Amino acid sequence: MYQHQTQQNQTLDLPLGKVVCVGRNYAEHAKELGNEIPDAPILFIKPATSVVSLEGGFSIPQNQGSVHHEAEIALLISKEAKNISADNAWDHVSHVSVALDLTLRDVQSQLKEKSHPWEIAKGFDGACPLGQWVALSQLSNRDNIAIELIKNGEQKQSGNSTQMITSIADLIAYMSEIFTLQPGDVILTGTPAGVGPLESGDVLSAVLDNQFRFESKVR
Ligand code: ZN
Repeated sequence: MYQHQTQQNQTLDLPLGKVVCVGRNYAEHAKELGNEIPDAPILFIKPATSVVSLEGGFSIPQNQGSVHHEAEIALLISKEAKNISADNAWDHVSHVSVALDLTLRDVQSQLKEKSHPWEIAKGFDGACPLGQWVALSQLSNRDNIAIELIKNGEQKQSGNSTQMITSIADLIAYMSEIFTLQPGDVILTGTPAGVGPLESGDVLSAVLDNQFRFESKVR
């Protein structure tokens, strides 16, 4: 069973909660899927049951069309947040990491055409491989966080939190107006451009802040 752990394999005393996510938070990614840039953040939730460890590899659904990787900066909520302001949003976060917002892209496209909810395309068991946590204090600059995903030796995604349409602090504040964020909840902050399909056997590595590496593979 998944438990929050640091990159030093230390288990954190926080329960795993919901995963609150944002769609289209990087303009280049909205463009690559032919989507308009939204007026307000598009929020959705992945259930706790979707979370698995990124390290050591994960499996993907078979026979349901393409499964896309969306590499995202993940945040761990350490203190309850309800209607908080952006000014103190970071006080509610203790750790950062990388997550893959796995998406059944063909299923999602069909759901979008019918204006149906996305859950089965993004909330299935295993839909959120999540890396081990890095303490916020270890980041070189929390307002300038780079993220990169390399698949089979080739860089596929590369972005920086400075390119977000809604900044991390504004995003946490907005999310807290709608969902009470509880200790152990996880926030995914949107994916930069370069999403694409995964296949069994793919070797993945992600790099956060140009210094923290996460190794994984698709089983
Ligand atoms: Zn995403």
